[in-house]
Amino acid sequence: MRQRTLVLIKPDAVVNYHIGNIIDRYEREKFDIVAMRMLEMDDCIASKHYAEHVGKPYYQRLVDFMATDRIVALVVEGENVIERVREIHGKTDPKKAAPGTIRADFALSKTVNSVHASDSPESAEREVHVFFSETEIYQPNHDIDFSVFDGD
Ligand code: ADP
Ligand code: MG
Repeated sequence: MRQRTLVLIKPDAVVNYHIGNIIDRYEREKFDIVAMRMLEMDDCIASKHYAEHVGKPYYQRLVDFMATDRIVALVVEGENVIERVREIHGKTDPKKAAPGTIRADFALSKTVNSVHASDSPESAEREVHVFFSETEIYQPNHDIDFSVFDGD
């Protein structure tokens, strides 16, 4: 089933020069990047995006961390992308993340863990629209014949 998911590249991964490496892992799976933006996560965006975590003991630490520097928000599209991206990311706690996952490779702690991804079709639908309007999300076209532009 073709799905969309919301990915955030968190401040630690941005500051440590991992943006390209992280995006490469989705593209190697032939997932389509259909929307992308760099931004700072303020309290208002944080409380919308992390609505189900408001009031948890780690919430304020999470929000303060997410506001330390810029983040990259992406909509990623593909077959079973919601589950597959969470596998590529690894478990929340990098100590428990499988070798070769993004969190095993880059995350520093349970809070400072490099990436976010939606965990269900319902949360993907909600989270995508915290960051993007429908007009900012593109339809990938895999049927373009680029050879018609050969001029030399
Ligand atoms: P995930 O990002 O793997 O879906 P959760 O949705 O449970 O994890 O939590 C959202 C984010 O909140 C985590 O990615 C992490 O940054 C932070 N977090 C979650 N649980 C804890 C915790 N027990 N201690 C510290 N930070 C946490
Ligand atoms: Mg989550």
